[in-house]
Amino acid sequence: MIVMKFGGTSVGDADRIAKAARLADESTSGPVLVVVSAMATVTNSLRALGRQAAEGDVEGYRRTLAALRETHQAVADALLEGDERLEVHRFIEQRLDEIGALCESLTVIGELTLRALDRIAGVGEKLSAALLAAALRARGRAAAFVDATAVVVTDSTFGGAAPLLDETRERAQAVIRPLIAQGIVPVVTGYVGSDKSGAPTTLGRGAGDYSAAIMGASLDADEVWVWTDVDGILTADPKIVSQACTLEELTYVEAAQLAYFGAEVLHPKTVQPLVTRGIPLRIRNTYHPEHPGTLIVDQSDKPRNGPRAIITSKGLSAVAVVGNTDGWSAGISARALVALSKAGSEVLMFGQSFVDKTISLLVRGQDTEAAVAALEREFVDDKEHGVVRQITVQRPVASVSVVGAAADDSFSLASRTFAALGKHRTPVLSIAQAYSEYNVTFVVPQEVVDETVCLIHAELGLGRGGTQ
Ligand code: ADP
Ligand code: MG
Repeated sequence: MIVMKFGGTSVGDADRIAKAARLADESTSGPVLVVVSAMATVTNSLRALGRQAAEGDVEGYRRTLAALRETHQAVADALLEGDERLEVHRFIEQRLDEIGALCESLTVIGELTLRALDRIAGVGEKLSAALLAAALRARGRAAAFVDATAVVVTDSTFGGAAPLLDETRERAQAVIRPLIAQGIVPVVTGYVGSDKSGAPTTLGRGAGDYSAAIMGASLDADEVWVWTDVDGILTADPKIVSQACTLEELTYVEAAQLAYFGAEVLHPKTVQPLVTRGIPLRIRNTYHPEHPGTLIVDQSDKPRNGPRAIITSKGLSAVAVVGNTDGWSAGISARALVALSKAGSEVLMFGQSFVDKTISLLVRGQDTEAAVAALEREFVDDKEHGVVRQITVQRPVASVSVVGAAADDSFSLASRTFAALGKHRTPVLSIAQAYSEYNVTFVVPQEVVDETVCLIHAELGLGRGGTQ
């Protein structure tokens, strides 16, 4: 069996959904399970709608809801006929009515909890999955909508729940296996699950890829295919570097690294469920299905020397704790890290200079205010006594990670990267190199990140005609 995941752009309108249905139907002869994301931009609209309701903006949330209804109904009209069309219309109507009712109570409560937000944010997948299942049936292929809240069991961390893989496997075997045995294509909602008490959860932003891997592992799939809008994982984001080329094959470890450093094309947790069962993962292009894409496997016998890809992560903040000469100690770093961890702000990169009496911490843009507030609280006495001078923020900044392996002893990844940067006088704010030498990451002001990536991509010979 092949698990195929279609992302938001791959189901962005009626034509794309029809194309996705054709690919699911025709690109393999054996059984297929489909995992689908919400139509592009729908999840963002749903989140906005939740906020509007909690802020008492009744007009606003009703308008957003009406727009969502219209978009989905129009797709149903374009794709379906007769009873099938009526039934999908009714389904869309009911799901959005439920959201409307929830919004009404949110306007009274005046607060949007992560629990309520998960209930709202996961509805887009129900609508797209119902549409795609109907589109498959319209082609004459037996297909059934499956709500993953009845299959994927998670903990209760709303907004970013962790799947409980054993429980999920049991449910998948009970709910989905019989469909496959009858020759039906299950069309499963990505991104969502539910906790043990049945409350709907979400697995975090962009987690449709992760859902597909969870389904693949739970049902012992032969392969998991992530269909998207590019030819696989490339040497850099093709939206930034037009010369970027597809990496033919990656190991799980390499793919996880690229995803972790911010390559949007793959959710960072996707490979986790696949590793123990050794299930191959393919990234393929719906616009270019004849392209083999990128194959991700346990081991690769392809030679893999030197840099392989350049990954960027934008919208970050460089926070610094700046001290005075007197009283500065290593304990200050420890306290800063604990304070940020308690505030829920993940530190993406960390450095300290004993000479300058400064600690620098890289955090996500959305965590900046919470991070600064936590540091101000932690160091309030130290500021009074003059040990800490100030807490500063530089934003937006971006990280650039060069991932690969040291080509040989004399030519490390870092020396090649910084030689390239030095030539172009790029303002580098901070640097981190992994002990493994498999990656080096540096931070630059966001306004220079695109040109920086283009130039090191060229200098490191990653473009077309280079060695992958
Ligand atoms: P989907 O909606 O299918 O989940 P995403 O938008 O999440 O698609 O991911 C696909 C996008 O990831 C591409 O359009 C591309 O711009 C971006 N991307 C970033 N880095 C890379 C990379 N190294 N290789 C391929 N795509 C990348
Ligand atoms: Mg994605």
